[in-house]
Amino acid sequence: MKTLSCREAGFDCDYVVKGETEEEIFKNGAEHATKDHGLKPEDITPQFKEKLRGLIRNS
Ligand SMILES: [Zn+2]
Repeated sequence: MKTLSCREAGFDCDYVVKGETEEEIFKNGAEHATKDHGLKPEDITPQFKEKLRGLIRNS
C-alpha cells in the first residue's frame, strides 16, 4: 500500500491518498484534488506529479 498526504502536497487538508501503485495514487489523488480542491485536470502537470512522486510513502 502506498500513501500520499494531501497536506504534504501543499494543501491544508488531512486527506491521505491511498493506492496499490503509483498510478493508482495519481488517479485517486487527481480525483480528490479536482473534487475537493477545485483543481482542473490540466493543473496536474508533469512537474507537479514529479514533486508528488517524491512524497509517496510505502506503508
Ligand atoms: Zn485534500
